[in-house]
Amino acid sequence: ATPTAIMVGTGLGAKRGVLFKNAMGLETSARTQTVVMDKTGTLTKGEPEVTDVVTATDVTNEQLQRLVAAVERESEHPLAEAIVRNAEASGLATERAEGFENVPGHGAIARVSGHRVVVGNRRLAEREGIDLAELAGKRDEMAATGRTVVIAAVDGRAAGLIGIADAPRETSAAAVKELHALGVEVVMLTGDNQATAERIAEQLGIDTVIAEVLPGDKAAKVAELQASGRKVAMVGDGVNDAPALAQADLGIAIGAGTDVAIETADLVLMRSDPLDVPTALRIGRGTLRKMR
Ligand code: ADP
Ligand code: MG
Repeated sequence: ATPTAIMVGTGLGAKRGVLFKNAMGLETSARTQTVVMDKTGTLTKGEPEVTDVVTATDVTNEQLQRLVAAVERESEHPLAEAIVRNAEASGLATERAEGFENVPGHGAIARVSGHRVVVGNRRLAEREGIDLAELAGKRDEMAATGRTVVIAAVDGRAAGLIGIADAPRETSAAAVKELHALGVEVVMLTGDNQATAERIAEQLGIDTVIAEVLPGDKAAKVAELQASGRKVAMVGDGVNDAPALAQADLGIAIGAGTDVAIETADLVLMRSDPLDVPTALRIGRGTLRKMR
């Protein structure tokens, strides 16, 4: 690796908002065969918005939103923020929660007005022994359109569903296309549910989806991909993604992401544009060619 080629490559990247933090990053980007992309905040804008509120027969929309908003007000999860914002807009975020418990990768639990309220994904509902029969049809319908479905249970019974949409970034599909054109495999890695993830992957032309991954397991999934001998880059934005960014041969952080992700990455995309992933790989390849 000649210092001149590295300087040129690094400079070219910097001009385009692609910041290589080390020379190794340039070389590895040239050799990348698989790009793993986090869904929320990386392929999508990370600006979730409530689109649907569905309740069980004996629950009103207002009751559901009051209970759920009280729990989610204690959470820092982006989905929780979307739910609280929506409830606030209707003046339904006035209740207080007690005994709040965050369940990473699952959801949250707290007591509100004497009720035990559980808010989260299917795995959490199953863990809590919630019977979802009445709401299963609606849940599947929402997930099939790419919505993230948040399940709410009150005192051990399914009370309702909140559908949340997070639009793909404008250039995500184009980025996947360019990566494929470079002969690079693209994988989506997410904690979200399988059906939701598959729908969004389909919209973006991604053929491999690894969904319902717990925050602590993302790095292990990257390691599994590396076990086949492939050079793997991981693109992420969240605190959740940091171990996977460290595990990958090349860690790529979205510039708008969390500090931890940016600190851990080998490469930072200052414009938070997925199209800069293929750009980085091309700069790496160009640099490597000059180094030979
Ligand atoms: P990701 O950001 O990749 O979706 P997380 O591990 O943060 O991953 O969350 C995984 C899933 O757990 C979310 O998609 C959601 O279904 C559920 N979840 C986590 N925290 C909450 C919360 N506070 N409220 C509702 N659902 C939650
Ligand atoms: Mg994310």
